Amino acid sequence: MDVFETHVYAIGMRSRFRSITVREGVLLRGPDGWGEFCPFEGYDAAESAPWLACAHESATAGWPEPVRDRVPVNCTVPAVSPERAHAIAAESGCRTAKVKVADVGSSVAEDRERVAAVRDALGPAAAIRVDANGAWDVDRAVVAIGELDRAAGGLEYVEQPCPTAEELATVRRGVDVRIAADESIRRAEDPLRIAELGAADVAVLKVAPLGGVRRALRLAEACGLPCVVSSAVETSVGLAAGLALAGALPELDFACGLGTTALLTGDVVTDSLTAVDGELPVPRRPPEPDPALLERHAADAATRSRWLGRMNEVAEHRLSG
Ligand SMILES: [Mg+2]
Repeated sequence: MDVFETHVYAIGMRSRFRSITVREGVLLRGPDGWGEFCPFEGYDAAESAPWLACAHESATAGWPEPVRDRVPVNCTVPAVSPERAHAIAAESGCRTAKVKVADVGSSVAEDRERVAAVRDALGPAAAIRVDANGAWDVDRAVVAIGELDRAAGGLEYVEQPCPTAEELATVRRGVDVRIAADESIRRAEDPLRIAELGAADVAVLKVAPLGGVRRALRLAEACGLPCVVSSAVETSVGLAAGLALAGALPELDFACGLGTTALLTGDVVTDSLTAVDGELPVPRRPPEPDPALLERHAADAATRSRWLGRMNEVAEHRLSG
């Protein structure tokens, strides 16, 4: 396989997200630019293989032509106090907010206050979606969605209320709010299964777990659902691939979850892909990391060795598979 220049980074997160406080990954440079390999903690070699395919696509093949220059993005409101939620939404410049709910140790009452604060901050025309990251069972989901929909003055959709696609299908039949599938889409077959089960109204696509821009575009077409492109909280290098997908989707009806460099305490490029007035530009190619920033965010030796080991394991898995 190609030999890439590699940099392993470790960048702090402003708030705990998916139970992590530091984001780590590998940046690799190929003949056509840079790619990023950063599968979530606990993903095995098989699950991580599409992430490497995505990084290789960026570094060796580039991306298809976009059909739009800019992509609207949502701001992300973590499980914080109503006051903090209000401030995050108001300062974001976004017309869509995604509010984290059903977090460990937070109640539906706190979730209601948080979404109400975000509505107050953004006004009646804004879209508010919530993300439960699969934390509810079906009965709790149906009750909580009704309560949050009222507290928000209308929700745009609820992302992954329950863990499984079958549960999403059941919840979807019991509520009036659109259901979006996120964690249920981790593998290439999943968008099709979601559509077949009638499990969701919206498919959340992350470019890396789906194996790159071209593969994700084919899946979007095959599943036939409206799609939202979301990040995996990458640096601007990995995020650019998500923007390339959002830029190339024939239809884009909802704001995307790509305004996530704001969740990190640093970036590896000088011109970070940070939303302005709720929008991000669609890059034609991956941005170039800045050598001084690569140095500043370089992981320690143990972390570097762990990630390069992980990447090699995935490369071997792909060759043997
Ligand atoms: Mg989600």
